[in-house]
Amino acid sequence: MADGRYAMLEAPRHFAVGSGSIPVPGTGEVRVRVHDCGVCGSDLKMWAGTHAFLRPPLLIGHEIYGTVDELGAGTNGIGIDTPVVVFPAVGCGACFHCLRLQPQLCADMRFFGGQLPGGLAEHVLIPEENLIVVPDAVPEHQRVLIEPLGVGVHAVGRAQVEPGERAVVLGGGAIGLFTALVARARGLEGIILGEPSAARRSRAEALGLETFDTSITSIADAVSDRIRPEGADIVFECVGSEATINASLAATRKGGRAVVVGNAPATVQIDGLTLQRGDRSLVGVLMYDKGDLVEGMNMLADGLLGALPEDALVEAFSLDDVGAAFAAAKDGTLGAVRAVVRP
Ligand SMILES: [Zn+2]
Ligand SMILES: [Zn+2]
Repeated sequence: MADGRYAMLEAPRHFAVGSGSIPVPGTGEVRVRVHDCGVCGSDLKMWAGTHAFLRPPLLIGHEIYGTVDELGAGTNGIGIDTPVVVFPAVGCGACFHCLRLQPQLCADMRFFGGQLPGGLAEHVLIPEENLIVVPDAVPEHQRVLIEPLGVGVHAVGRAQVEPGERAVVLGGGAIGLFTALVARARGLEGIILGEPSAARRSRAEALGLETFDTSITSIADAVSDRIRPEGADIVFECVGSEATINASLAATRKGGRAVVVGNAPATVQIDGLTLQRGDRSLVGVLMYDKGDLVEGMNMLADGLLGALPEDALVEAFSLDDVGAAFAAAKDGTLGAVRAVVRP
């Protein structure tokens, strides 16, 4: 039988590219031939050995676009070669959250590319119910972006935005950029995106977003000058640090919401007076529901990212260059929104 190739994260900052027999799908499973696998901020933490709870050896990669390659028993006949993306979370199936179709909140949540084998491989086995069929209208190079876009859809949902509200997005990586675009599509006006990297700001501006340079202008000054002195209705924190979480909370108006989308440190000290005496809300965001991925996918089909050329959105690396993909994503030399591995 033929072999399939994969990249195993063996130790911090060390991948080993190997091969083994192509996996055979079990009951209810589909084998996906991986075309693109994106490199996420959380993948970078696993790679660097700084993730909150996942340590190498790991088969990482949860941002998976591919095509159906083989069907296991008991699948419902999804066609061979159908383009699909993966909803990576798997829950226990029986708890409060699983029954509400939010397995990502299950106490026993596992995900493909974490506790379960991921997409830095030619093939991956996925339960059919975790697959989402991608329509032709989504440009092929954008399909790998459906997963990070789903985070933005979920974040904006958690913020309970009202049309006409004014928001700041802090952080212009993929998650910040996509959160800003979804917020605009949901009726928020005059969003300003704060980001120190000129390359990231220029990509956001090419998509019609206003930006400010956080290495020159504080978020408080940007909000005071460009939104209102009392503060923004919503700040989306897409960085993941104690300093930016507090700056986000302080930049909201009284009664406003600070939405923590970035991966927060284990312990964060919050200004209690700003929170309580300001009548403010501090909201956490984890991943997305399956429906959020579908919504993001439909936004891509409608041309959400059409103003950016392919090479500004994804920079592709071969499986043998997986280490270079992670290094570029980590050190900021990436010339695109996402580093993508094409096994
Ligand atoms: Zn991701
Ligand atoms: Zn559960």
